[in-house]
Amino acid sequence: MMGCIKPGYKKRLDKQTNDWLNGKSNHNNVDDECCPDFSCCNRGMMAPKREREEFCRAREKHNSKKVSRMLGVFLGRIIDKKFPKNKVTIVTE
Ligand SMILES: [Zn+2]
Repeated sequence: MMGCIKPGYKKRLDKQTNDWLNGKSNHNNVDDECCPDFSCCNRGMMAPKREREEFCRAREKHNSKKVSRMLGVFLGRIIDKKFPKNKVTIVTE
């Protein structure tokens, strides 16, 4: 996916992340990308502030293992809410 990043992506990502950290969930319409916890497209699903801070710290430290694990947890919550009768397991390394 690296080849199709549009100019200014990093700036948009930083703004989106910063807004998200401060409790504002904005979908990135230019790159069509959700906030880390997908709360922009799933009302009421914003991760608690503590987790948002934890996620941003992990991303700043380029702790990709932790970042992907947290993304998995966020995604799991959305799936859980949308398909409450199914048991969904997400496996990350
Ligand atoms: Zn979204």
